[in-house]
Amino acid sequence: GEKMRLDKYLSNMGKGSRSELRVIMKRGVVTVNGKTVKDGSIKVDLAKDNVAFEGVSVPYIPYIYLMLNKPQGVISATEDAKLPVVVDLVPEPFRHYEVFPVGRLDIDTEGLLLLTNDGALAHRLLSPKHHVPKQYFAKLAAPVNPEDTGAFEKGITLEDGYECMPAKLLTTGIADEVLLTIYEGKFHQVKRMFEALGNKVIYLKRMRMGGLQLDESLKLGEMRLLTAEELELIE
Ligand code: URA
Repeated sequence: GEKMRLDKYLSNMGKGSRSELRVIMKRGVVTVNGKTVKDGSIKVDLAKDNVAFEGVSVPYIPYIYLMLNKPQGVISATEDAKLPVVVDLVPEPFRHYEVFPVGRLDIDTEGLLLLTNDGALAHRLLSPKHHVPKQYFAKLAAPVNPEDTGAFEKGITLEDGYECMPAKLLTTGIADEVLLTIYEGKFHQVKRMFEALGNKVIYLKRMRMGGLQLDESLKLGEMRLLTAEELELIE
């Protein structure tokens, strides 16, 4: 199987930085297949070797999946010269994973954003071929028109001529609040779709992505690991 330096393995699993581990390992608290190892430079097999730290087995977990309730004012990126980015919100126990956002929400959009270090999963979710549905809650400047549902179903043509795929508009009983499901993800797509209809989005929040639903118990800016069930919904 795949091999990795022992100090990197332990560091990736949150047991300290590589330099901290050099000191820690001298205490003899790390074993590989039951034998004490003090040299962090040895390689371990991720599939076969059993690494333990202070007597507790440390399985190698390569990927993490975090659900964020994105607040406004934060950009969907890993770094930015001026603005706060979503990875700044990653809590301490997950800091050593190099996660990135799966797709983008605008700076003023709130709601469901997945963060992961699993590039293959991100690729599957974002691939234009897969048409993963994304549902948004939108507050509009003006009430929706009765014809809007049909217009979304037929496919909106944006100002630049781009013809959107059919989308599903659901009314909420409140005239200027709707749920819209789109199956692609062009830049500012929801906002531009409503603009094409002569309306304007004044608040936008993503509620769903594929089978995954925003956990509304997450406060804005909070994130948590996906449950095993949630992970199955997006795999
Ligand atoms: N559509 C938008 O216009 N903005 C988003 O953030 C997401 C979808």
